[in-house]
Amino acid sequence: MESAYSLALTELEKIRKKNADELERRKAEVRSAVPEFSDIEHQLTACGASLARCVLNGGTGIEIIKQRIADARLKRAEILKRLSLPDNYLDDIYTCKLCRDTGYDENGHRCECHRRLISKYIGINSNLTETMRHQTFGNFDFSLFENQPDVKGHPVIKLIRAAYNKALEMANTFEITHSNMYIYGNAGAGKTYLSSCIANRVLQRGFTVYYQSAFKMLDMLEKLKFGRYDEDERTNAEYEARYFYDVELLIIDDVGTEFITAYSSAALFDIINSRLVDGKSTVISSNLTPVKMGDMYGGRMLSRIAGAYTAIPIDGVDLRLINKIK
Ligand SMILES: [Zn+2]
Repeated sequence: MESAYSLALTELEKIRKKNADELERRKAEVRSAVPEFSDIEHQLTACGASLARCVLNGGTGIEIIKQRIADARLKRAEILKRLSLPDNYLDDIYTCKLCRDTGYDENGHRCECHRRLISKYIGINSNLTETMRHQTFGNFDFSLFENQPDVKGHPVIKLIRAAYNKALEMANTFEITHSNMYIYGNAGAGKTYLSSCIANRVLQRGFTVYYQSAFKMLDMLEKLKFGRYDEDERTNAEYEARYFYDVELLIIDDVGTEFITAYSSAALFDIINSRLVDGKSTVISSNLTPVKMGDMYGGRMLSRIAGAYTAIPIDGVDLRLINKIK
């Protein structure tokens, strides 16, 4: 899996090439209409080089060269006018004027366009399914929960609104708050839906997200550890395993349904604990309450979840309904 960052750089390179080709095409167009234009181009190139030399050597004659450049530009402008072409027809072309398609602004900060491209490729690499990509805060339909029976005396719609608001807040601020979420409820209760909402929002904001089910995650770590992959599979798995630690937001879905061994249990704890130490956010969804998850994974896991995760119960929701929200 090539990194989103290098894919974005490759795309910027393509944009620069496309714009340079277009400029060349325009020059050729003007050249063929007005052959004299070639001489002006040569003059401009030669004057540019002389000017650079003059500046470097502190030589005299700078003003004369500048005047020649101005004259040549004037001639070029006249040619464009004669051909009814805009003044800037032969200027350098930039798709993003902020960074001139380099991906970095003049202060060396990553440009907005570069961030958007990275986000696009991370979106592709985030492991969300096509269905999950449509599960967004914007598509959430509260009306489906309005007539649900109460859960322990609480209206379901209230429960859902609270879960939605907490998830939205996390998605909008996780990089500052370093917050984590433990979403739990019955199978299919929309835990994945809510996780997808967070993932899509965070991706849209230009951060990296990776989604994986606990089952696949632990299966992969086991296979890696015990050498059950062939060469190619191992390279991919190693990259993915590293990404569990590095990605800005990790979503571990369906914790509690996986088969655990002493090794996989320790491996999951290491991922969760390392991410906490590094201030990286994680969303866990589970059919187990935090206490039951602690029974399965041990006291130290429970202490991390209880200490650093916001628990979001979404029990009691009619699970089949939520699948209709696409
Ligand atoms: Zn830019």
